[in-house]
Amino acid sequence: MTLAEIETWLREEDAGRLERLWAMADGVRRQHVGDAVHLRGLVELSNHCRRQCAYCGIRAGRNELVRYRLTETEIMDCVRLAVSLGLGTMVLQAGEDPGLTRDGVAGLVRRIKAETALAVTLSLGERDDDELAAWREAGADRYLLRFETSNPELYRRIHPARPVETRDRLAVLESLRRLGYEVGSGVMVGIPGQTYRDLARDIERLGELRLDMIGLGPYLPHPETPLGQAGQTVTDAAADQVPNSAVMATKAMALARLVCPDANIPATTALATVDRARGHALGLQRGANVIMPDLTPPGYRELYAIYPGKTPLTADRIEAVRAVQALVASLGRSVGRGPGGARHREDVTSRPKECPSWSK
Ligand code: SAH
Repeated sequence: MTLAEIETWLREEDAGRLERLWAMADGVRRQHVGDAVHLRGLVELSNHCRRQCAYCGIRAGRNELVRYRLTETEIMDCVRLAVSLGLGTMVLQAGEDPGLTRDGVAGLVRRIKAETALAVTLSLGERDDDELAAWREAGADRYLLRFETSNPELYRRIHPARPVETRDRLAVLESLRRLGYEVGSGVMVGIPGQTYRDLARDIERLGELRLDMIGLGPYLPHPETPLGQAGQTVTDAAADQVPNSAVMATKAMALARLVCPDANIPATTALATVDRARGHALGLQRGANVIMPDLTPPGYRELYAIYPGKTPLTADRIEAVRAVQALVASLGRSVGRGPGGARHREDVTSRPKECPSWSK
């Protein structure tokens, strides 16, 4: 699919023609990854963060936000909950927290791998190679790090570098691939200042990176962030601005499925937040094959406030997983068993050795 075709689909508003896009994405999803929907248990380990991302509600400098870091005992309780619910993967996500040390995380991963059959996915931000290597060595299977936008100017605006930083997120993705992780990335849809051409390029880039996992969700303004405060003005000013709607997010998701047919693609929490009633279902019908129920203990999950309105419909984690399982069944799909890793993993050596990087 050419860049121009991707952009034309993103601008498409005719309901009949969009039905064709949804049908194509659904067909490719079925053919390449099947009808199983994999559920991943998400645990938000910590909301401490050393970064100043302009979009994110747990960015450093939000002094009024109560910070937490789960203990190993609390995390292992979540792990056991995931096992008891029949889930096959644990996703450990956090702010970019130096308190989650190389050895601490390695020990945790080793313990999960020793005590359970779960696959472990990490999403702990931009970390050094020696940390990423130690965690892979300890048994971590996958890593999620969205590049957020492929427009270098927009990236710099929303994602200020650390003073000591030497590499961008694409370079980290390259390291992850070299270390043998299954690699996931993605972008936010509707960031203030993001044009249709930018988003089309993002999708093209997802295909070039040959990702194992793709996470896409609508950008949701957080009132206590620089971008959340400035957002409205930027949106008004730019005629070419991509909206942060559920339909635009699912267009991007459908196109991501077409450019990366084998990827595991979640119907994201952000999508379910902009459309509470139908977000997850729409995602699953427009290319997605994964849902990540939040298993973070109540009391902490409210503090992992990357955007507003993230609170689930029910605080009961078991009930929430049951609701997702019922949704999957109502769509005529099955709940996946086991770790549900990347289908094209054996293909790993034929991937491009180098990912394109902004720094080149
Ligand atoms: N510290 C980790 C995890 C961050 S949360 C990291 O940076 O990778 C995971 C994702 O949530 C981010 O990559 C971003 O794409 C998304 N996110 C953050 N703030 C958001 C917002 N205001 N609206 C929508 N998505 C957001």
